[in-house]
Order: sequence, then C-alpha cells, then structure tokens
Amino acid sequence: MQIDMRGKTVLITGAAGGIGAAAAAVFRAAGAQLVLTDLHVESLPQGTDICARACDVTQKPEVEAVVQAGLDTFGKIDIAINNAGISGPWGRFTDLKAAAWDQLLAVNLTGLVHALQAEIAAMTGARDPGTRVTEGRILNVASLAGVSGAPGLAGYAATKHGVVGLTKSLAHELGRDNIRVNALCPSFIDTPMLDAMGGDKDRLHSPLNATRRFGTAQEMADALLWMAAPQNSFMNGQTVTLDGGISAL
Ligand code: NAD
Repeated sequence: MQIDMRGKTVLITGAAGGIGAAAAAVFRAAGAQLVLTDLHVESLPQGTDICARACDVTQKPEVEAVVQAGLDTFGKIDIAINNAGISGPWGRFTDLKAAAWDQLLAVNLTGLVHALQAEIAAMTGARDPGTRVTEGRILNVASLAGVSGAPGLAGYAATKHGVVGLTKSLAHELGRDNIRVNALCPSFIDTPMLDAMGGDKDRLHSPLNATRRFGTAQEMADALLWMAAPQNSFMNGQTVTLDGGISAL
C-alpha cells in the first residue's frame, strides 16, 4: 500500500522528541508539508515544506499562534498529531508531589485541550471559512497507560485515560464535520522519555511483552502514517495499541 501525503498539511506537537521527530520524517517522506512545534525549536528540521515554531502546549496563546502560523504558511491543516507529553517521575502514587501532578495535567491534558481547540477551529473554518478542510484527521498519542493501569505511573495513566476520553468523545462530536479522531496507545518505546522516567530500563521492560523488546519511534511513526492514510477511511474513535503483546494477556 502506497501512502501519498502530497498536498496534505500535517501539524505535529512534541516534534523534537523521539516519536514526534520520527513522525515528522515519515510524513515528510510521504510528501506532506509540516507544521512542527516543540519547546525545543532548535531541534526541529528546516525547509520550505516546514513551518517550525516554538511553543509550550500549556500556554494556550502559544498553541494558537502555532496553528495560525501553519494556516498563514500553508492555508489549512488536514492532519493534527497531538504528541507532546511527559511521563512524570516513576514511583508510588502516594509519593507523587503536587507540582509533578500539576505539570502532568498541564502538559498531557490541558495542553491537548489547547491544541485540539485550535486545530478544530482551523479544520472546521470556525474563524475563517477559507481554512475549512473537506476531511480532517486528528491523532492523539495516548499510551497503553490510557487503556490500562500503570503501577508506578498512576498520575500519567490518569492523564492518558483523559486523552482517550477526549478522543472517543470528539470522534462523535466532529463526525458531521468529517473529522476523524483516533488515538495511538504505545507501550514502552525507546525514546528519551524512558530515560526521563528515571527508572532502570531493564526493570521497565515487561516480561509480558511477547516481542521481548521495547518498541521503536519508527514503528510508532509508521503506525501514525497508516492511521492518517486516505486508505484508512473508516477508523474513528479508536485506540490503536502497539505494545509488543502486553495487552494480549
Ligand atoms: P520524548 O520525551 O522523546 O518527546 C516528547 C516531546 O514533547 C519532547 O520533544 C518535548 O520537548 C515535548 N514537550 C514536552 N513538554 C512540552 C510542552 N509543555 N510543550 C511542547 N512540547 C513539549 O517522548 P516520546 O516517547 O517521543 O513521547 C511522545 C508521546 O508518546 C508522549 O505523549 C508520550 O506520553 C507518548 N508515549 C510514549 C511512550 C514511551 O515509552 N516513550 C509510551 C507511551 C506513550
């Protein structure tokens, strides 16, 4: 199956990180023009097919400015990949500090709300009818911890369950606008996030993983491309779990 993204504008948050950067490369190779954003704008790729902007997703005006920059550059946003996220510290729930919980909520959930509202306004032409798209796709990067429990990461799991709740609800709310909303739910993927958790990587590697390894950012990016592909035309409100088999038991 050839997936052709020529003529499509794809917005990716957290585009300097492991999964985000891999997704940017995969969609670019498929011919898309990209609106990329991250806290670390210096790490984003450059090019005439790329609009790269710094933003902190917890700050609504900054997110809105990124979407506006994308519209000013390319005229529309067909596909949005809401990928920016943090894991928070690994540990017992009773040790989760208020500041760490506030930050998890601010980035993983409030940041997603900011992005979704700005993206939906662009896709539906709410502010400018000229930016309306005939078909929109929104992919939220949730987690296996968005569909099952994650001992040691309870706060993170709570935010990612929220991501899944938003995904399923918006799939229905946006049906009449022909915008489909789905979530990718990875298990442990070998990116800087695993290091940020502060845990021993071997300890994180679940023996329940039938594939006996971590997933790769490339595998997640390829899945996102397929989820956004024109050929994948009937998937809506779903969670796509890529976990090497953990959830099969
Ligand atoms: P990563 O740490 O490599 O990348 C995350 C990116 O998000 C970074 O570039 C970071 O700068 C950016 N970011 C963080 N806070 C931000 C903010 N406030 N505003 C804007 N950008 C911000 O991690 P990753 O593994 O690539 O994670 C991407 C997504 O995948 C996250 O939503 C994460 O929860 C999810 N996920 C990752 C794993 C995993 O094991 N790596 C598993 C399941 C889900």
